[in-house]
Amino acid sequence: MTHDKTIARKVYLRGLIEFSNICHKSCYYCGIRCDNKNVERYELTDDEVLNAVDFAWRNRYGSVVLQSGERQSPLFTERITTLLRKIKEYTHNEMGITLSCGEQSEETYREWFEAGAHRYLLRIETSNRELYYQLHPKDDKHSFETRIEAIKNLKKIGYQTGTGVMIGLPFQTEQHLADDLLFFQNMDVDMVGMGPYLEHKGTPFYRYEYLLLPLEKRLELTLKMIADLHRLMPDINIAATTALQVLDSEGREKAVFAGANIIMPNITLPAARVNYQIYDNKPGIHHDAEQTLSALESRLRQAGIEIAYGEWGDSDHFNNRSLAKS
Ligand code: SF4
Repeated sequence: MTHDKTIARKVYLRGLIEFSNICHKSCYYCGIRCDNKNVERYELTDDEVLNAVDFAWRNRYGSVVLQSGERQSPLFTERITTLLRKIKEYTHNEMGITLSCGEQSEETYREWFEAGAHRYLLRIETSNRELYYQLHPKDDKHSFETRIEAIKNLKKIGYQTGTGVMIGLPFQTEQHLADDLLFFQNMDVDMVGMGPYLEHKGTPFYRYEYLLLPLEKRLELTLKMIADLHRLMPDINIAATTALQVLDSEGREKAVFAGANIIMPNITLPAARVNYQIYDNKPGIHHDAEQTLSALESRLRQAGIEIAYGEWGDSDHFNNRSLAKS
């Protein structure tokens, strides 16, 4: 592994809690799309989520990420609001919270922000409109414009806002990827989570499997994108995604050396993890949170990467922008 001495090798941990795989959308590439009837749907209870939060808190993770499929309903909005308040109260406001629950109305985003979420991830998956509609049905539920509007709303409300793309998609060109980097810059986002496209056999997009780049090429492209993004936007937070680990057991560490500074260990109950497979061969689905953490800690230690325990690890880009405004 080559080491770039200009990159700070300190990472922040976000405990990832995949609290529900129920989704009302049907993105063509996704294993948990609503039309995939082979998936057993689940929703963790508040207590189960709080148990995972407790694990993260005791192990001095600075933040958790609450992730689910996309649903828009008053009941869902209220459930998340209550959950956010419970987490804040339980951890005496010590735990930072990132949400990743898809497109919602501006009011809903605002309600969740006021209840304690301060970061939000909403991946665009590709910034190219034509490619977007090769990945998604062209209907009201999957509008490219609505997604961009949602990212803008998150920023307006005051969230640290993240987006991201898949890399190595069939039909994706190098120009698309270069445009993705410019999209991040033009949207002035605070965080990016981008990873290799990994196929799922039970999805419509799998029919283009014959167009896929070899795994090594997808890894190489992803690491290059991370390095280029780090040069373009050096003060944003960049995630070393779990998908990288599928391509290379040292994939996440390599991403850190390319410029990533966020790792999101999965702390969801193993019984639920098996049903949250957006792509095939997701790593660690049978491990519990303790095993995931100790394996990760020792890997990072071996690679000479420091973990920033107990820190929220907010995006410097966001902090710098807030300072400039004040
Ligand atoms: S990618 Fe997200 S919104 Fe699309 S089907 Fe999968 S979980 Fe639902």
